[in-house]
Amino acid sequence: MLINKLSLDEYISGYKNFVSHAHTDHIKGIKKYAKIIASKETVELINTRFKKNVVEEENKYNIEMLDAGHILGSKQLLIKLDGFDLLYSGDYQMEKNITCKEIEIKNADILLIDSTYPYRDIIFDEKNIIIDKIQRFVKEYTKKGIVLFGTYSLGKAQEIIKIVNEIGIKPIVDKKIHEINQVYIKNNVSLDYASYFKDSSEIGEIVRDNFVGIVSINKLYDMANKISFAYGKKVYTAVATGFAKLFKFNTTMQFDLSDHADFKQAIEYINAVNPKKIYTYGNNASIFAEELNSIGIRAEPIEELYNYNKISSI
Ligand SMILES: [Zn+2]
Repeated sequence: MLINKLSLDEYISGYKNFVSHAHTDHIKGIKKYAKIIASKETVELINTRFKKNVVEEENKYNIEMLDAGHILGSKQLLIKLDGFDLLYSGDYQMEKNITCKEIEIKNADILLIDSTYPYRDIIFDEKNIIIDKIQRFVKEYTKKGIVLFGTYSLGKAQEIIKIVNEIGIKPIVDKKIHEINQVYIKNNVSLDYASYFKDSSEIGEIVRDNFVGIVSINKLYDMANKISFAYGKKVYTAVATGFAKLFKFNTTMQFDLSDHADFKQAIEYINAVNPKKIYTYGNNASIFAEELNSIGIRAEPIEELYNYNKISSI
């Protein structure tokens, strides 16, 4: 999205580039030595995950980054334009995430709001209820075999580690997750886990009994087969994602643990920001705008390419 040579979550050479957080769909096209407007944690995560050398651009603009509560380092962007403020939500969450700072809310005249979960009837359970369900599942199924979670490597994997740490379990994670964990730990998020790339001697000890593994979601089924074969045990699989509310996964269990706002949280966010004008953006922008309008909140979807002149004329 473009605002007068400021690009939001889509890298364009020659523009000022804001990167709200280090998930892959927000850093498309980023150059190896790019200068970006982002938190220091986001810069570290991008450099670690994608072997880049991006640097933080000094903030000499009328902008302010606010915590978004989504993953480590995630930010919203408050842009001060001529006579009005514009807030870009990025991916955000109202409920407290145990691995990052809570969302910070400020008022703005115009709100560009993410549309990942646009439906009125898709409401996630409260986090503490989901966390409790996950912990009960892990306790029960590790009595019978190995438990393997397939998660996004950044954000969700660290949440699952913390959730099983709370019940005294030290999970084994794959290399990608281990590398990201190192950035979390450097930024004071404590995570107790083992990895073949860090604690190979300890692994032998852990796998003697049933254990919990966490792998990137695209490797879940393959790894479940390999682990079952290697240890001669049944492997029980699980996913933890907001999409568990929308789709049926081919796993033993699925949990709607999300790092995004659902519709209820979006309303809470809109009320707190108290904007005069709302634009929805992202893949589900039209649906989200329709759903908001249907309950009397005026909103319209924003085109992918947008410009400052159009916003100035509101
Ligand atoms: Zn994200």
